[in-house]
Amino acid sequence: MYKGTNASDGIGIGTAVIVEEAELVITRREVGDAQAEVSRFKGALEQTVAETQKMAEDLATRVGEKEAEIMQGHMMLLSDPMLTGEIENSISNDKVNAEFAIETVCNMYADMFASMGDELMQQRATDMRDIKVRMQRTLMGLQSADVSSLPAGTVLVAKDLTPSMTAGINPTNVVGIVTELGGRTSHSAILARALEIPAVVAVNGLLEQVKDGDTVVLDGSTGEVYVNPDTEIKTAYEAKRDQFLKEKKELEKYIGKPSVTKDGVQVEIVANIGKPEDVDKVLQYDGEGVGLFRTEFLFMDRTSMPTEDEQFEAYKKVAAAMNGKPVIIRTLDIGGDKEIPYMGLEKDENPFLGYRAIRLCLDRKEDIYKPQLRALLRASAFGNIRIMIPLVTCIEEYREAKALIEELKKELDEKGIAYKKDIQVGIMVETAAASLIADIFAKEADFFSIGTNDLTQYTMSVDRGNKKISYLYSTFNPAVLRSIRHIIACGREAGIMVGMCGEAASDPMMVPLLLAFGLNEFSMSASAILRTRKLVTEYSVSELQEVADKAMSFATTAEVEAYMREFMEKMNG
Ligand code: PEP
Ligand code: MG
Repeated sequence: MYKGTNASDGIGIGTAVIVEEAELVITRREVGDAQAEVSRFKGALEQTVAETQKMAEDLATRVGEKEAEIMQGHMMLLSDPMLTGEIENSISNDKVNAEFAIETVCNMYADMFASMGDELMQQRATDMRDIKVRMQRTLMGLQSADVSSLPAGTVLVAKDLTPSMTAGINPTNVVGIVTELGGRTSHSAILARALEIPAVVAVNGLLEQVKDGDTVVLDGSTGEVYVNPDTEIKTAYEAKRDQFLKEKKELEKYIGKPSVTKDGVQVEIVANIGKPEDVDKVLQYDGEGVGLFRTEFLFMDRTSMPTEDEQFEAYKKVAAAMNGKPVIIRTLDIGGDKEIPYMGLEKDENPFLGYRAIRLCLDRKEDIYKPQLRALLRASAFGNIRIMIPLVTCIEEYREAKALIEELKKELDEKGIAYKKDIQVGIMVETAAASLIADIFAKEADFFSIGTNDLTQYTMSVDRGNKKISYLYSTFNPAVLRSIRHIIACGREAGIMVGMCGEAASDPMMVPLLLAFGLNEFSMSASAILRTRKLVTEYSVSELQEVADKAMSFATTAEVEAYMREFMEKMNG
């Protein structure tokens, strides 16, 4: 068994087809007629642009607009006058062949992007290398590897897949993808997920182990890959694949169904997002709204702060797409461990206990907080936006943020700019302090959303990313459970909505307890929505009270977990 990175869920079992593009050998040649060589380059460029345009259109109709944007990104690179101008200059000034000029100029940019370190720039470097090779192949009259007409039941095996190659795959014939390079967030992996083809990437030494015609079994959820496995393994994975497909099909039944328990308790199942484009998936999986928009992603992968207008456009896009359904947007949760180089923040000695989120925002009202709050208010005219304040520990923080929002509302009134007058302002309950005084917060905040990722960390005094002490990091710990139950009770007592946007909201063992505690809203990654809706419909809140009481009676995490596991097994018969 080989282990790689899980890149796209599902089980693939099929016959290996190795797709290898022979490395191009680009040599430097002197050209006599540089003008003619420039024309040759322009011809190849034109052809590559036309092919890319076709791929983008094809993807837009076959897969979706968002996926087509990847190819549109290639179009942007190809039509960048800086890039094409430099290639033309290199041909004219150095009197070199077009292939060589493309090689040097594109490599220079790709290396520059790659050296910037962040993920977005890494992707841009891959994109640059992709268009480089495509232009060179066109010039050299070489066909690109054709992945559009592979035989049925193919597991595509490659060193690396370029986005353009992945985009050309016909998913009815390709049952899996395994590559030696790549990462979960590479464009190829994103496309594999959009095409719903199981994929494992970054399998070390893969190409030395597989040859054409081998039987390959891959699990895109765990990253496991088998080459010519024995019958026992193959049969086990066939059963796993059938189960996966059956469950997937079954879950589709829950699209358009209400999230209501057997005894008629209605809850909301909503999504966590990080970018406006993520709403496509929320709609696909029938999310009843957005329970957490982590706005810090708008501030990452760039060299300066997004302007108020840029933010306004992003928030408006989500609000409009969700068409009146609630969209909870969290104000910037940055600082401490989440670094943004252009903000010039000092490194905290204790990042998680430091200058972060609302603490930083209230200290940087003029350049950070006001533009964001103004953008949120303006965007609220286009949908059902709610504002959420992260990491509050004392009521003064909430009051100060609320006062600022009121001040900005007045400003907008004076200018005659529209916004949602009764916009709700709630808090994330994710610190031990906020939990302990949840009754005080509940009198003033419009809603709660429990951030169990941080609440567990702060309750247990355990760094959420520290593997050595991860045994302490559990939402099933009696202390954390009591905290959650208390927060929900305080919210319910005051008559405000209580949601949860930490990972625990979609944990199947946690859902029955949360229903029993009276949670109103469950927010999770879009792909977990239907699975959770199915669970909710299988329970009766009244019957769950006993289960919750029992779970709360244990002294240790292990006992709670064992009890809940046993309960789930009984439920699943
Ligand atoms: C949380 O803390 O539970 C949460 C949802 O926020 P984040 O993971 O972004 O800190
Ligand atoms: Mg948090």
